[in-house]
Amino acid sequence: MPPSTICKTVHQYNREPISEPDMKKLVEIAKDYSEVKNYVYQRYGGIKSLPKIYPGYTVQNEMTGSGLRARLGLPSVYFYLAVFDALGDIKNQWTQIKSRIEKGIRENENLTPEDRHYLRFVMKQSRCFESILLEKEMILSDEWKKPLEELQRDVDEKRLHQYLRRQVRRHLKKLHTDTVDRFSVSAQAYRYEEHGIYLAIKEKRKRIFIPLTDNNQYTSQLNICIFPKERNLIIHVPVETRIKQNDNYQNAVGLAVGIHTMFVTDQGNIYGERYSDYQYALSDYVREGNIRYSRNRANNPGRKKYTAGKRRLEAALHTYINAEINRLLQTERPAVIYLPKLPQSSKAGVNKKINNSVSMWQRGYIRDRLTQKCREQSIELVEVFGKDISNECSQCGTIGKKTKNIFVCNACGARLPERENTAKNALKRGQVNQ
Ligand SMILES: [Zn+2]
Repeated sequence: MPPSTICKTVHQYNREPISEPDMKKLVEIAKDYSEVKNYVYQRYGGIKSLPKIYPGYTVQNEMTGSGLRARLGLPSVYFYLAVFDALGDIKNQWTQIKSRIEKGIRENENLTPEDRHYLRFVMKQSRCFESILLEKEMILSDEWKKPLEELQRDVDEKRLHQYLRRQVRRHLKKLHTDTVDRFSVSAQAYRYEEHGIYLAIKEKRKRIFIPLTDNNQYTSQLNICIFPKERNLIIHVPVETRIKQNDNYQNAVGLAVGIHTMFVTDQGNIYGERYSDYQYALSDYVREGNIRYSRNRANNPGRKKYTAGKRRLEAALHTYINAEINRLLQTERPAVIYLPKLPQSSKAGVNKKINNSVSMWQRGYIRDRLTQKCREQSIELVEVFGKDISNECSQCGTIGKKTKNIFVCNACGARLPERENTAKNALKRGQVNQ
């Protein structure tokens, strides 16, 4: 059964610049938050702490006893989130290490099949794994003792244990964070009010109020990113949204993705026709900003105004993209959309005017938004094989010619806009493979 909800992140923004004193208080929290994380990394990131980190109560208790919270004066609503935040990173690292070692075992030609079997067995049993790393005797239940002894008969266990320890030492990195611009907040530490949010700070029972640009209220754990210089913040909120079922969305739609226009359908309908206007405005601004910046670098120019301008143009572009994707879905009412696999750095589309990195990034944004919106409305999004998809005639399959955005087929006489031909092929390829 398909899931009925999906998780997405929504963002909230401050309505006006945050006052200097309030920003200072947020910075204090972020600094302490980092310090707690680094403390946890240092104390529990190593091999010796491996038995303590699952499920983590030991760490929590020890951290309570460590006196760090009192020394920092950080409210517990922040302190324990920082602890679990760091603990999550440590656990992630162990998961990664294990999968890297497993890969190494698979690819190591000096290991016999018996060696591999043995190594996999001990890695699966966390007790075994820990005692090998800590060079302690294995204390196992009978259930595991017997099979282990049988496996040990065919291998040089000392050598394999050394191998395992060496691999762990190789992959285990010291975790550390230098960022002091973000922290998480649990529901007890904030309260929404009319068009704003109250946040707990280090001073007891005091909260600061930050007016927000929207009036939405949430109850989940929030992640707050602060920008002290700009005196801004962004709140990241994870939310579960119910997937919508649109029973009247029944169509199969082929799409071509363009450089100047966002989408053309197999019926020749166009969405995001003004996309390149927004795109040019942004990339011109970025380019000119960079030129001006490098010219005046000696004067140590500030970039505050530039950053604000860039953000404004980017927001306008994104609003446009989202509105056009919505319009596409509402108009076409698709049950399924077929589109070519991510365009290769197409020769046809090279345009010097477009700042390449900006344009690539924005194209990624369009894809992401389309993917997300389709998931939210349970519309199937299918990528089809993209080779020659714009060169083939959608009527007869012969390779044709493209001139000035018109596709012409000499075999059957077809003549239609190039993107529409591509979209028709996307639909065709998608339906053949169903
Ligand atoms: Zn043809």
